[in-house]
Amino acid sequence: MRKVVAKFGGSNLKKKEDILKLVRVIRAYNRPMVIVVSAFYGITNRLLKTLEAVKHDEDEIRTLTDFLLSMKEEVIHEHFDDGKIARDTMKEVEQRVAELKRYLTGIHYIGEAPEFVEDVVLSYGERLSSLLLTSILRSNGIDAEEALPEEMPLITDGEFGNATVDYQRASEGVKNRLADDKIYVVPGFYGVSQDGKVTLLGRGGSDYSAAALARCLDAESLDVWKDVEGFMSADPKLVDEPVLIRELTYTEAAELSYFGAGILHPRTVEPLKSPGIPVNILNIDTFKDRIKCGTVIVGKKTVTDDIIKSVTYSDDFCILKLRGAGVGVKRGVLAKVSGALDKSGINIKSVLTSQIAINILLSAKDIKRAYRVIERLELSAITEIEAIEQLSTIATVGEGLLDHPGVAGRIFSALARKNINIRMIVSGASSVATYFIVAASDRNPAVKALHEEFF
Ligand code: ASP
Ligand code: MG
Repeated sequence: MRKVVAKFGGSNLKKKEDILKLVRVIRAYNRPMVIVVSAFYGITNRLLKTLEAVKHDEDEIRTLTDFLLSMKEEVIHEHFDDGKIARDTMKEVEQRVAELKRYLTGIHYIGEAPEFVEDVVLSYGERLSSLLLTSILRSNGIDAEEALPEEMPLITDGEFGNATVDYQRASEGVKNRLADDKIYVVPGFYGVSQDGKVTLLGRGGSDYSAAALARCLDAESLDVWKDVEGFMSADPKLVDEPVLIRELTYTEAAELSYFGAGILHPRTVEPLKSPGIPVNILNIDTFKDRIKCGTVIVGKKTVTDDIIKSVTYSDDFCILKLRGAGVGVKRGVLAKVSGALDKSGINIKSVLTSQIAINILLSAKDIKRAYRVIERLELSAITEIEAIEQLSTIATVGEGLLDHPGVAGRIFSALARKNINIRMIVSGASSVATYFIVAASDRNPAVKALHEEFF
């Protein structure tokens, strides 16, 4: 029987009721499956903060471990009636926290966190989730077993902090480790390099872990459980009557995620597209007793009458404008700029060039550093650098967008009617997305105007 891989995030692990609901969901599946879990809500951020703080302050180790132990003790106390199981589980939690403590102590004494240690430390949020959930399932009479990525191993390309899973190398081991007809619980967010080092899969990467496991197992589906129905036609906080999108293609889902729809990690569909494994988005809040999907992500393209399926936005795009007469025709400028940004670990989101300016789209967190990196290059072709912040990027996404005339016209007209100025527009870079940049203050009216136009 092909397996189902189901992913539960931090938002499904906040309260006792959340965890009990999760147990009911697993019962409702009533089949062998692989469950991938994230850290409890907020834990990864907490680990990240401690990682910095312990370099200077040893007391921070104790503060964190006390916090983790008391939090887990509370969960155990809430969920286990049997005193012996509760004590055994707490012992296992203590062991894991003690491992974490050893890493943090090491960081304190050397005064820095090498990247391979950083990745191990940050994986502990997930490791504690999988341990606890396995015990909770067992105490509810479900045959569950924890399976760690290093036991498979879930092999990656070895890049710390942002690794990519190597499906070819990982598949056999994953299949063997998860072979039995039972419930496996796997901590998300990390895999291991070929030489066995823990490598994180990027922030929010548990979705991607789950997708990679689904690919290795040739699963029947990847089911991602959320506290919302699925992808919507726009952010329900911004528009009056958002509609649930029942079906999306892999490409549409990837673009919507890239441009800010916070449902899935943008890389989730990547492993699943070529084998055609569907992704189902399901809402745990409205779960009663039947497994019912909100949005299904598949390969089959559907083109709707109005083409656009969703309007989304992200406030995480800034422009670094490099001015200079002739940057558009001078050879090598872009290569030097992108090379320097790459060396500094800065990701370029997009580039638009003209005769007199190169516009580099970057994440807000990188813009100041990118400015300094390029300033230091002292390129004669660039006479002025400008960092433009307080922007929003709005994307309209739908299959068929490039093949149907008139969509861009409708976008322009809808925005013009509301007097919204488009600072930049990109169409054609993706076959399913047209995106444009407006001042941050124009973001909400722009999303509303487009939603009204297309829905
Ligand atoms: N816990 C990790 C993070 O916060 C991974 C995840 O939640 O998917 O980034
Ligand atoms: Mg997440």
